Amino acid sequence: MARYLEAKCRLCRREGEKLFLKGTKCHSAKCPMEERPFPPGMHGQGRRVKVSNYGVQLREKQKVKRIYGLQEKQFLRYYKDADKMTGITGTTLLQLLESRLDNVVYRMGFASSRTEARQVVRHKQIQVNGAILNIPSYRVKAGDRISLVDAAKEHLRVTAAADAAGQKGLPEWLDVDLQQRQGVFRELPVRDQLDAGIREQLIVELYSK
Ligand code: SF4
Repeated sequence: MARYLEAKCRLCRREGEKLFLKGTKCHSAKCPMEERPFPPGMHGQGRRVKVSNYGVQLREKQKVKRIYGLQEKQFLRYYKDADKMTGITGTTLLQLLESRLDNVVYRMGFASSRTEARQVVRHKQIQVNGAILNIPSYRVKAGDRISLVDAAKEHLRVTAAADAAGQKGLPEWLDVDLQQRQGVFRELPVRDQLDAGIREQLIVELYSK
């Protein structure tokens, strides 16, 4: 499957904000956005043009797509699914993205970024309700129990991610036992619990055209 091969930090600079794509580096002074928060390229610093409504909507969609590490087709599929479901389409879209197994592994603190979480899942280090599941896009349901296989529980990167998550705090919609490296996806997050900086309505407007 195709993946983003563009340097991740360039994606943040393109969007003009931190998207937290690289784990611990994102929370350190080494993050390029701390010093160069403008688009990459020779003219990035001076490139300030008036952006159309369409441009604003497009950038918001690109931003969210990049946060969750998805390709256009996958992202559009989530939008279409959300549009068919009851509820507010934008909120449902975010809930579907949050339900991806790789995202849940990241949110539970078993990986320091969604990219790393995807690798952990693909390498068969994650169990859902006691059975190994290596599909990053698997849609986790309320009540599902996620755990690391024994062989991966003390991997250095898992320990580092769990320590960082313990300090940062864990999402309210998850019950996580970091010591045991397991957790339960208690319920779908409500909008107020998710990133206030995301303007999902712009994405709905973009796709509704
Ligand atoms: Fe973005 Fe993280 Fe790179 Fe900073 S370190 S630019 S937040 S990916």
